[in-house]
Amino acid sequence: MKEEWKERIVCATECSRCHGKLDRRILSVYDHFVICMECKEKEEGRPDYDEVSKNMIRQCLVDTEREYGDPGDFCYHHFYPYTC
Ligand SMILES: [Zn+2]
Repeated sequence: MKEEWKERIVCATECSRCHGKLDRRILSVYDHFVICMECKEKEEGRPDYDEVSKNMIRQCLVDTEREYGDPGDFCYHHFYPYTC
């Protein structure tokens, strides 16, 4: 699972939503896919975004801490944009 995440987030070349080219990117709190900042803005406009993101981060920290002991890496990419 960790390998899969890393592979997906480290150097994706296109947004999984709009297929635009990625520069700064961030992860979706809905499905953990890599998306561009424009798509993130749209995601943040969804009415359930706050609730979904809170649940996601809580679950993410629990899961990754238990299994890998290093949750920050992955979980916070849902909130802090990063580049390849
Ligand atoms: Zn996009």
